[in-house]
Amino acid sequence: MTTSRTKIVIVGGGFGGLFCARRLGKADVDVTLVDRAACHVFQPLLYQCATGTLSIGQISRSLREELARHRNVTTLLGEAIDLDADARRVTVRRPDESTYTLDYDVLVVAVGMRQAYFGNEKFAQWAPGMKTLDDALSIRRRLFGAFEIAETLPPGPERDSWLTFAVAGGGPTGVELAGQIREMATRALAHEFHSIEPEEARVLLFDGGNSILGSFAPDLTEKATRTLQQLGVELHLGVHVTDVRPDGVTVTPKDGSPSTDYSARTVLWTAGVEAVPFARRVAEVTGAPSDRAGRIAVDSDLSIPGHPEIFVIGDLVGRDHLPGVAENAMQGGIHAASCIRRGLAGKPRRPFRYRDLGSAAYISRGNALLQAGPIRLAGLLGWLGWGLIHIAFLTGIENRISTLGSWLVTIARASRTDRTFILGGTTSPEHPYTWLKFFHPNMLPVGERETADRSAP
Ligand SMILES: Cc1cc2nc3c(=O)[nH]c(=O)nc-3n(C[C@H](O)[C@H](O)[C@H](O)COP(=O)(O)OP(=O)(O)OC[C@H]3O[C@@H](n4cnc5c(N)ncnc54)[C@H](O)[C@@H]3O)c2cc1C
Repeated sequence: MTTSRTKIVIVGGGFGGLFCARRLGKADVDVTLVDRAACHVFQPLLYQCATGTLSIGQISRSLREELARHRNVTTLLGEAIDLDADARRVTVRRPDESTYTLDYDVLVVAVGMRQAYFGNEKFAQWAPGMKTLDDALSIRRRLFGAFEIAETLPPGPERDSWLTFAVAGGGPTGVELAGQIREMATRALAHEFHSIEPEEARVLLFDGGNSILGSFAPDLTEKATRTLQQLGVELHLGVHVTDVRPDGVTVTPKDGSPSTDYSARTVLWTAGVEAVPFARRVAEVTGAPSDRAGRIAVDSDLSIPGHPEIFVIGDLVGRDHLPGVAENAMQGGIHAASCIRRGLAGKPRRPFRYRDLGSAAYISRGNALLQAGPIRLAGLLGWLGWGLIHIAFLTGIENRISTLGSWLVTIARASRTDRTFILGGTTSPEHPYTWLKFFHPNMLPVGERETADRSAP
């Protein structure tokens, strides 16, 4: 059925896109929300899914289910790949590579950012990032798989390298991951193995800055550093990871000292972000300026200069140093919806004003940082604040209740209830499980070695 109502297309169902769609529910417009994953992912808890505390169902929700009560909102699966700004048409690719198009009167680009490897894309096959559910499950497989493989090996360098975990990037995600791996090794896994001592697992955290968690106040950063060190995380600051191999990393100090090689069969990458290809295409087609990472410069109402019908929201916004945090994306989504509603009512748009509600980072059990204006909390108080905020913003009441339940179990019993990992599919009885691509590329048939992991999440 075609209507003459204003057609809104929202690309991306993350924090920005979801909040925009919700606000347009019941407005006199037709909304189509297209997302390449068809679900909303609560990225701040991805690391808990990767380290076995939470399931993917607890930190994500089907967009179709989430928006079902808004009859004017349609959700579609697909990856936006092209934009015709003159015809006002977006081309979208289905998972089977076929395409379809969506016409719009107003377009909201809410595609977030992806992990950046700074020109070293080949690192991605050995060092997954942490942006999607696929990433979280891939990391879970590597982490728990590494302990399992170590258990089967005799003592020696090979076993040690399976028990060494390298994390590139000392921002909140890297810190959370590093802390969780040590906590997992010293609590949940501590008494389950017969051959190895999981507590001996080394976790190396590398960062180019002089301190971890650069966006937090120095006193909080110092506390976090001490907590991580007490947990047993080895901090290496002022260094860049300059090579990643299946069996380790090379790390180069910024002061020009010689590089060091570390043997580590598990390498995780959280060192930076960049725009997804569709965002780059939007900037190219509209002529919008963008920064090196691909963030798009927008006008004060978050629309693209010369294209008031295209809004950019969330992490992709390149204006006023707006932070890449969920709150900015949610407020941006609400703002774009408000502009659209005001336009329908014949009212002028208002400029976007970001209200900084602070930031938080989990360090370890009973220990988190919370920074909001003059309020600076660390330790137990920070942890309680962190927990309340994350529960409040999780999508869906069932997810909130079950996540709270999982946390209580983890606190009380040190167990992690979602440790199960899958081996990856086989295409025929002769083909190895895809997990071999992560661990042993040399065991793959020759023709498959070069492409190993390129298709993997
Ligand atoms: C591990 C991790 C931990 C974090 N912790 C915190 C935290 O503690 N506090 C905090 O405030 N923020 C945190 N953040 C940041 C926060 O999650 C982001 O700022 C927020 O998700 C940005 O929202 P967004 O809507 O811009 O993009 P996203 O939430 O990234 O959503 C983008 C959506 O677009 C979809 N998409 C991408 N490309 C296409 C395409 N071409 N076609 C169709 N769909 C597409 C994706 O599937 C995704 O659903 C964290 C992020 C990560 C990765």
